[in-house]
Amino acid sequence: MIDFEHVSKEYKKGGRLALEDINLHVDDGEFVFLVGPSGSGKSTIIKLLTGEVLPSGGRLMINGFNLNNISDRQIPLLRRSIGVIFQDFRLIEKKTVYENLGFAMRAVGSSPREIKKRIPYVLELVGLEEKTDRYPNELSGGEQQRVALARVLVLRPQLILMDEPLSNLDAKLRLHMRTEIRRIQQELKLTCLYVTHDQKEALTMSDRIMVMNKGKIEQIGTPMHLYDDPATPFVADFIGQAN
Ligand code: ADP
Repeated sequence: MIDFEHVSKEYKKGGRLALEDINLHVDDGEFVFLVGPSGSGKSTIIKLLTGEVLPSGGRLMINGFNLNNISDRQIPLLRRSIGVIFQDFRLIEKKTVYENLGFAMRAVGSSPREIKKRIPYVLELVGLEEKTDRYPNELSGGEQQRVALARVLVLRPQLILMDEPLSNLDAKLRLHMRTEIRRIQQELKLTCLYVTHDQKEALTMSDRIMVMNKGKIEQIGTPMHLYDDPATPFVADFIGQAN
């Protein structure tokens, strides 16, 4: 669960606010998209969520942690409750699919029994059950992205952050992975925040979309809600892209 109340972020004292008066509540099981031009504050939101930067004002709660007075000792616990998926897959090349997932689970202290049970379940969920013993360089880009997703899912994070996860894939695979990610999110009732430049992803996969501009939330609502308001720059952009 994420709760921003009037959150602001100032990187340099007296400088321009990178975020201003952000109010956002993300419920458990919700899939929320974050879109907006470069410099609008998307990365700052992600960095606040992982505890990489701290809020300058307002109140921020994530997975039960209060980011206003989080201690250095609690930061690793906060990070452990969050899974992050990037556009580059960051897999270990010398390890098989199974070993990549096992390594991630051992790093957080999972027992061999838990590892043996969890990995096959997750590999089936992401459609990789036949690729268990392959090395990353023997997999397609789409399959590598599924391994990256599986590696997060085996750890059962309370929140998943996805930062442009499909932008390295070709158009056909992107379309397929859009459906796949949404299916898995709904099946496991995952709480996800997804950053993208691709309005089609936002309109087709999300429960809600948050449009950022110059550090502020410009619009927030369901895809239908945003789509029904043709005056909004977000939808105008989207229509522009489609033509
Ligand atoms: P986005 O991810 O949407 O491109 P960012 O969150 O990276 O936006 O940036 C929001 C604003 O904060 C921008 O004006 C950017 O220049 C500024 N900013 C980001 N990181 C830093 C930093 N480490 N120090 C100073 N200013 C920063």
